[in-house]
Amino acid sequence: MNESAGKKKKTAAIHLNQKWCKGCYICLEVCPKKVFEKSPDVSEKGFQPVLVAHPELCTGCLQCEMLCPDLAINVEKGE
Ligand code: SF4
Ligand code: SF4
Repeated sequence: MNESAGKKKKTAAIHLNQKWCKGCYICLEVCPKKVFEKSPDVSEKGFQPVLVAHPELCTGCLQCEMLCPDLAINVEKGE
């Protein structure tokens, strides 16, 4: 584990489907970088979804995508 941290650019892109989010906040808990935050809005189904507040911090670890029970998150890993 000796990557040159300064050189490697993070290129993961997070796609969040807020319509599918039921506000369980598993992603909030598991994300090591605190990329997600609770949205101030309530969805049409009455849930308070999350939003991607700090996408630039994402390392592409995929934990959020793997653990979201509603398949609302897709993380596209860059190079
Ligand atoms: S894990 Fe999925 S359903 Fe739960 S808050 Fe995050 S995006 Fe929403
Ligand atoms: S891929 Fe990892 S770092 Fe990126 S938002 Fe999901 S849990 Fe956080």
